[in-house]
Amino acid sequence: MAGKQSHVVIFPFPLQGHIKPLLCLAELLCHAGLHVTFVNTHHNHKRLANPQALSTHFPTLHFESISDGLPDDHPRALNGELLIALKTSIRPHFRELLKTISLKAESNDAPAPPLSCIITDGLVTFAFDLAEELEIPILSYNVPCARYLWTCLCLPDLIEQGQLPFPDDDMSVEITGVSGMDGPLHRQDLPGFCRVKQADHPALQFAINWTQAQRRASALILDTVYELDASCLSHMALMFPKIYTLGPLHALLNAQIGNVSKSLASHGGLWKSDPNCMTWLDSQLSRSVIYVSFGTLVNLTRAQMMEFWYGLVNSGHPFMWVIRSDIIYGAHQIPAELEIGTKERGYIVDWVSQEEVLAHKAVGGFLTHSGWNSTLESIVAGLPMICWPNLGDHYIISRTVSQKWKIGLQLNENCDRCNIETMIQTLMGPKREEIQSSVDTISKLARDSVVKGGSSHNNLEQLIEYIRSLQHHI
Ligand code: UDP
Repeated sequence: MAGKQSHVVIFPFPLQGHIKPLLCLAELLCHAGLHVTFVNTHHNHKRLANPQALSTHFPTLHFESISDGLPDDHPRALNGELLIALKTSIRPHFRELLKTISLKAESNDAPAPPLSCIITDGLVTFAFDLAEELEIPILSYNVPCARYLWTCLCLPDLIEQGQLPFPDDDMSVEITGVSGMDGPLHRQDLPGFCRVKQADHPALQFAINWTQAQRRASALILDTVYELDASCLSHMALMFPKIYTLGPLHALLNAQIGNVSKSLASHGGLWKSDPNCMTWLDSQLSRSVIYVSFGTLVNLTRAQMMEFWYGLVNSGHPFMWVIRSDIIYGAHQIPAELEIGTKERGYIVDWVSQEEVLAHKAVGGFLTHSGWNSTLESIVAGLPMICWPNLGDHYIISRTVSQKWKIGLQLNENCDRCNIETMIQTLMGPKREEIQSSVDTISKLARDSVVKGGSSHNNLEQLIEYIRSLQHHI
């Protein structure tokens, strides 16, 4: 079978924030001549922006979709119902699909080469069982940041040492035992599920099981820059024989396929971008706009929404704010002064092409929930951040951005309008120059990593070589 093309099945966790990076990876592998079958749920596949254009540009990229068993109008947020659907519906359908792909590839007139491996989203842990059962090599792609994954891998030790669950409510206590974090880690930097009262709490156990399952992969793929996370990665390397850091993945893709990337539009976008937001940005002064987005999962209470809105309007700076249609529960009535302030210098939108917005010269800062994709996109664009962490890896990212890399400021959890207003004025005013020089350093490091000779560029070549070597084992 040597000499045959390699064939990879890629399976993202079925949410927007996971589909986009895995689709970037699929495009990179196809660009290198590999054959990729990208598997979505029916629901997500129907919403995917322009899969035909992608398949036309990458003739070896094929899409398959399977049922998640949920009704059409289900919101499909990251919750128990989606996790149950993964087990009861998605798992058996994915198993059938893998068997069909394997059988088809064996026939003489097969449209695709035999399966070389699966690249699963690390959150789809059942893929490890299926890969073992069907004897297919499996690699794991992890969407959260490396420091978070490493911290979660250390959770069993923290429990054994009595540091978890927290014996009291003091969130400022230092956590010891997670090496390679470049400075002290505190309880407040750990994800929300660490605040539970019992070690056998399902949320904590879910995180432990998910991360320990990664050890069943033959290789780990991470969207980070080696040089940015070197100390933590050196500890992870003792646990994982092969780690490929390919970040920032979107920048690696842009570097490899150039302008084509833009014409293929917002890789993996499930929502439609507002076409007029770029015109509004064109009318603003250079570096004057604060861009605000809380990603794809975070919900706000009405009270939080009002605090942000007043903070933005009162800051006096122009702002562009992504308010997803599902970001807040229930109807909202907007006070008149906010409507006026927003008309004067704001632009509210339900979805944008974020990479394009961040790259616009009018944007001077990013108020973010500290999602990992958003953070990397901000770094590549060379923008300082205000971080308002909310769940999962956001807390560790926010800590790293503000304390280690010094490329942003951290808002406290109980956001209030005065605090938000002051922070925007600080970031867009006196503090800007000081932060900007750190941003420029980190940004250059990230951009250098994706061009020839850079660590992510080299790792992609090695990953492709590794995948090619796997076809001999089928
Ligand atoms: N995003 C976008 N347009 C928007 C808001 C977000 O394209 O209006 C994209 C953003 O570029 C990023 C992703 O959505 O790639 C959000 O991922 P992140 O990891 O930052 O947060 P999550 O949604 O997973 O919490």
